[in-house]
This record gives sequence, C-alpha cells and structure tokens, in this order.
Amino acid sequence: MYITKKIAAEIEAAAPIEGKFPKEQLEILGKCGLMKAIIPEEYGGEGIGMLKNTAAFLNILKVIGTLDLSLGRIFEGHFNTLFIIALYGSEESKQYYFDKALKSEFFGVWNTDQFNDPVRMENKGNFHALKGKKIFCSGGRSIQNALISTFNGGVPQLLVVHLDDLDAGAEDTSSWNPMGMCSSVSTTINFDGYTLENIQLIGNPGDYFKEPYFNTGSVRFASVQLGGAFSMASSAISHLTSLGRHNDTIQKARIAQIAIALESGDQWIQKTGEIIDNKELEDNFKIHQANMLRCAILEICTEVMHLAERAVGLQGFMRSHKMEKLHRDLSVYLKQPGPDAALQRVGEWVFNEDLKYLSPEETV
Ligand SMILES: Cc1cc2nc3c(=O)[nH]c(=O)nc-3n(C[C@H](O)[C@H](O)[C@H](O)COP(=O)(O)OP(=O)(O)OC[C@H]3O[C@@H](n4cnc5c(N)ncnc54)[C@H](O)[C@@H]3O)c2cc1C
Repeated sequence: MYITKKIAAEIEAAAPIEGKFPKEQLEILGKCGLMKAIIPEEYGGEGIGMLKNTAAFLNILKVIGTLDLSLGRIFEGHFNTLFIIALYGSEESKQYYFDKALKSEFFGVWNTDQFNDPVRMENKGNFHALKGKKIFCSGGRSIQNALISTFNGGVPQLLVVHLDDLDAGAEDTSSWNPMGMCSSVSTTINFDGYTLENIQLIGNPGDYFKEPYFNTGSVRFASVQLGGAFSMASSAISHLTSLGRHNDTIQKARIAQIAIALESGDQWIQKTGEIIDNKELEDNFKIHQANMLRCAILEICTEVMHLAERAVGLQGFMRSHKMEKLHRDLSVYLKQPGPDAALQRVGEWVFNEDLKYLSPEETV
C-alpha cells in the first residue's frame, strides 16, 4: 500500500495552480516510496509494474488518476521511460538513469513529432546532433530527462535528452493551451543544435515499436483515465447527497449505472494485468486484450461523464464545483492516439485469429 488515505489527502492538498507542473505532488509520491518502487529490483527498487504485479500497478495508476489526471499523466510518462530503459537500455545506461531516478529526477517519453519538422539525428563521429521539434511534451522543461524517438535512416532510435542542457527558449509553452490537463504542461520543445553522447542512446533502432510492449502500454493511460471517471462519480454522489437528492428514483438509477460501469472498468484492469504478466500467453493475445481494455475504458469514462453531468446539472459546470475541472481534464485526457485503429484491431482479431473464442460451444 503506497497511497494511503492520508497520502491521498496530502496529494489533493498539494494540487498546483492550473497550468503549473505538479512538482509537490510528485515529491509526495516519492516520499511514500512509489517513485523508488517502480525502479527494477537489481537497481535498488521493487520492480512494481515491470512485467510483474501489473494489475496492482494499474490500480495504483487509477488511484493517482482519481487524485489528479495531470499528475497521473506525468507519473505514467515517468514510469514508461524507466520501463523502456529497463527493456532496451545497456547496462551502463541502466545504472546511469536508474541512479538519477533514485535521486528524484523526473522522466518522460516524448514521441509526437511536429508534423513538418520531426526530430532527426545526425551522426557527427563521437557525438550526435539533433534537429526538429516534438509536440505534446508532458512535463516540458520541468522534468530532467526525456526519452525521445528520432528518425535515423527511416527507423526510430530512442535517446534520452537532458533537459537542463536546453535553453529556456527551446520550450514553447504557449502551444499548450487546452481546456483541461493544463498541469501536464505538455509543451513544444525545439531540439535544434542539441548534441548528445553515446550513453544517451537507448537500445537499437526500432526498439520503441517492439511488441507486445508498445501496444500494451495503452493499459496504463486507460487506468489513469478510469481514475478520472471514479472522481466524477464521487463528485456527483457528494453533490446529490448534500442536496438530499439521493432518494430520487431516477438519480438512484443513474448512480447505479455509474457504479456498474466503474466496476467493469476495475474488472478490465484486474484481468488484463493478469494476462500481461502471464508468460504462457501469446504476445498477440496480450495486445488484443489491451486494445479491448482501452476501447472499453474510453466508453466507460464517456458514459460516466455523461451520467454524472446529467445527475448534477448546471451546478457541475460552475468553476467553483469540483466536477467542472474533472470534466475538462477527463475530456482532454481521453484523446489518445488512434482510437479507431485500436477498435479496428479488436475486430480484426476476432475475425482472423479467434472466432471460436466468441463461440458458445467453448463455454459449455
Ligand atoms: C494530456 C496529454 C498529454 C500528452 N503527453 C504526451 C507526451 O508526453 N508525449 C507524447 O509523445 N505525446 C503526448 N500526448 C499526445 C498523445 O500521445 C497523442 O499524440 C494524442 O493524444 C493524439 O490525440 P489525437 O486526438 O490527436 O489522436 P489521433 O490519433 O489524431 O486521433 C484523432 C481522430 O482521428 C482518427 N485517426 C487517426 N489516424 C487517422 C488516419 N490515418 N486516418 C483517419 N483517421 C485517423 C482517430 O481514430 C480519431 O478519431 C499527450 C496527449 C494528451 C491528451
């Protein structure tokens, strides 16, 4: 148990002004041992979420999501970087970066390129030089290390950028002006002129897209999203109870539908976590399960938002109401890459790979 009720209250109390990086909240996660727990055991941590205890880890992501979705986004990016370094990094880079993580440096993964100026890397002999921009860089220059993908001969190479070496002018904060998730500070970063050494290169070209790790990663953002839906629900329940509207038949039915949806979200997380950790199952099946989970949780969150909004009404749209920010944050955070493609892959799997898995004979 990392996030006790007391820690959760501390995290909520440490919420930054909207648009500011959640540094204090991350420090509380450090204080309760979670930032260390996600480092592999061989490097001083507990390896939680690193292909073991995945269901428990997804539940932690959900709990963080209930407290603050921007914090959840930053924490998930931090974990993802350490996970990728654990999978593909050299012994030397693992020692180097896990040591930085133990010293409370923050990490993030920045993959999304500016479409007309993607990040490229040029080999200059004993060093490399970058050119181009990344967009939606969560944490921006408030984190210390960003794992980015660069195109080097058509195949992406991963490398870690040390953000303290970038000028303040490299960050365009004005580009991040969404209606919600403001504190994820997902800015645009210009890498023109940045040079790096070999230790900063992680793995071989193409490693970033290796499966099942690339596509099953969606279970982590979906778990954070589910946390946002739990918060919407609790906000609606408090509102109805405080107004004495909880005895109304239709409101009871709405809260029941919300509870059923959230329970199914929890079951998706539990089952998918177990499937991911099961070494006997095929990678393609794990990807299929992860795709189903992200599609299901997108629907669950959308349904819960809609029901909670109808249960509370106009008051829920007032800036003074907790639900107002939750609504904005969750609406933005639900926008993740390729939702149609994920659904399409679920359909393809059922048609091509495993028609019998939906067959009633299998269950008798
Ligand atoms: C709060 C937040 C923080 C983020 N932080 C980071 C970060 O730190 N690092 C990072 O790399 N990224 C980050 N991202 C960006 C994220 O990885 C995705 O790039 C982004 O969420 C994609 O959202 P989108 O709605 O533009 O997706 P899209 O994939 O563009 O989807 C939009 C719509 O178009 C459809 N679509 C997609 N492709 C096609 C196609 N070829 N033809 C037709 N239709 C298509 C989709 O199914 C969907 O309906 C962040 C995003 C958010 C919301």
